[in-house]
Amino acid sequence: MDAIRLSAPASAPAAPTIASVRDDRVQVVLMGPPGAGKGTQAGTVADLVGVVHVASGDLFRESVKNGNEYGLQIKEYMDSGKLVPDDLTVKMVVARLDEPDGLAGFILDGFPRSLGQARALDEMLEREGRRLERVINIDVPEETLLARLSGRWLCSECHASYHTVYNPPRVAGVCDRCGGALYQREDDTLETARDRLAVYRKETVPVLDYYRDRGILVDVDGDQPIDEVTRALYDALPLLSA
Ligand code: ADP
Ligand code: ADP
Ligand code: ZN
Repeated sequence: MDAIRLSAPASAPAAPTIASVRDDRVQVVLMGPPGAGKGTQAGTVADLVGVVHVASGDLFRESVKNGNEYGLQIKEYMDSGKLVPDDLTVKMVVARLDEPDGLAGFILDGFPRSLGQARALDEMLEREGRRLERVINIDVPEETLLARLSGRWLCSECHASYHTVYNPPRVAGVCDRCGGALYQREDDTLETARDRLAVYRKETVPVLDYYRDRGILVDVDGDQPIDEVTRALYDALPLLSA
């Protein structure tokens, strides 16, 4: 783990431009079906590497909670397990990545989820002289996913993810990380979870192929204990092999 560093390589110019600094940062997408463990892992990995964890689902849930202009519209899509339309999704994620901490690198979680979003992300990064370094796919069999989603609890403050059986908090209903109150998502019912998995197969699996064809996709076995998955993710990060 000590091998993860963000220092510029020896060949970096003495006064690096913004673009060259960005190129030294981790720009990674974490993919996987609902319940694969993206949220569980992304925060830990992002903290370790020192970049932001940007989860489209968290951005949407915040919009709904804060009642922003798109909140009601977004809630309808989320409640039914459908994807929020690409234009709105891209706008939201791009705005977040354009904040100063996002410009310094990111672990994206839950985005892109459609080919349209993947292309929009490429275009945005290209415009800014950046590019995706790696896409990591957390692979978990479907039968495991439903059991994970139905026992999931989330922190209302920091979005940390828990499970009644597989990853219980130290104190029931309270987040280990920040003390926030835990809640269950309305869309984590069996029925909506099944719909979300169908949407994943139809809309998101083609995105995996898109990145696989480009040679930047790495598969990680997500059907093992949380710590083991974390370790496999470190190994899959571009900095370690650079
Ligand atoms: P995602 O963000 O991919 O939808 P989460 O990270 O929220 O998934 O994980 C879904 C549920 O599965 C949570 O309740 C979490 O505690 C649990 N979970 C995550 N990783 C594992 C694992 N490796 N083994 C068992 N349960 C896990
Ligand atoms: P999970 O990882 O369990 O599938 P998320 O929190 O990532 O859950 O997403 C919850 C819901 O938010 C999705 O079912 C969808 O309605 C919406 N959503 C999240 N990310 C996207 C995205 N990139 N594009 C469209 N809709 C999204
Ligand atoms: Zn918390």
